[in-house]
Amino acid sequence: MSNDNYVVGVDLGGTKIAAAIFDGAGTVLNRERIDTADASTAREVVQSMVSMIERVSGGRKLSGVGLASPGAVDSREGIALNGTNLPEWNNVPLKQWMEADLGGVQVQVVNDANAAAWGEYVRGAGIGSQNMVYVTLSTGIGAGVILDGKLLLGSKSFAGELGHTIIHPEGELCNCGNRGCWETFSSGTAIRNEALRRLEGGGSAIEEIAAMAGEEISSRHVFEAASQGDALAAEVIDRMIRYTAIGLANVVHTFNPDRIVIGGGVSKAGDLLFPKLREETARFVMAPYRNTFEIVPAGLNDDVGLIGAASLFNV
Ligand SMILES: [Zn+2]
Repeated sequence: MSNDNYVVGVDLGGTKIAAAIFDGAGTVLNRERIDTADASTAREVVQSMVSMIERVSGGRKLSGVGLASPGAVDSREGIALNGTNLPEWNNVPLKQWMEADLGGVQVQVVNDANAAAWGEYVRGAGIGSQNMVYVTLSTGIGAGVILDGKLLLGSKSFAGELGHTIIHPEGELCNCGNRGCWETFSSGTAIRNEALRRLEGGGSAIEEIAAMAGEEISSRHVFEAASQGDALAAEVIDRMIRYTAIGLANVVHTFNPDRIVIGGGVSKAGDLLFPKLREETARFVMAPYRNTFEIVPAGLNDDVGLIGAASLFNV
């Protein structure tokens, strides 16, 4: 790929849009980030993205624009279907509108978790893998699946919603309306909620750690308390790791990956998370699957969505 093959990646979030232009070597030449708070229609959001793409491009001819969009996305048609904080965000024909506004430059749209999975696969912790599952543990759980070197889309390109696989039908109510989805056990929000439930009995350092930092209690404070030997925090983390391992064992049995990449804020817990998670997952998978996969932390930072979106063209 020559260096003058320029692609723009755009990461559309509920409150921010980031865009960057990459050359053929994958180097960022120019980037920008703006708020979406002022937009009141879907058309205005698209216009903001088109203006950003034009600004970061600086007149260079583009080979394509890759867009990571939140919520359900029909990737084949390039339509955002629903599910975000953005205004009027139902059945937005992103590909059609943007290609018209950009004078025919090809636009590809994927769900943000799929973009991140693809970014890790081509440029991050997935390099060298052939069958990779990406799981991001943050406020919820996002995921993307690469099988035989291809991003798994499914019939409507909704594949990989692993966070809403049901682990326990009588579990906690999930944002999706079901009970006991994986993300109600293993996300950062789930860690916080479980800690708050147990803290009603008192006797933990979690509250003090959060108060010292001047912050609301979050999963980070629970991990920190656990690292200091706090028994309640350790129980919360143990429970989360157990359910994360159950979810990952389901992933292993379903997709037979050679690598599982864990991203999101919770993955920053590092050694408080990974050794035990590997051990527990190995315990839950059937014998033939043991030692056939690795569980590794994500390799890219917050740019993962941008990189993944741009890389839809650069591979
Ligand atoms: Zn759910």
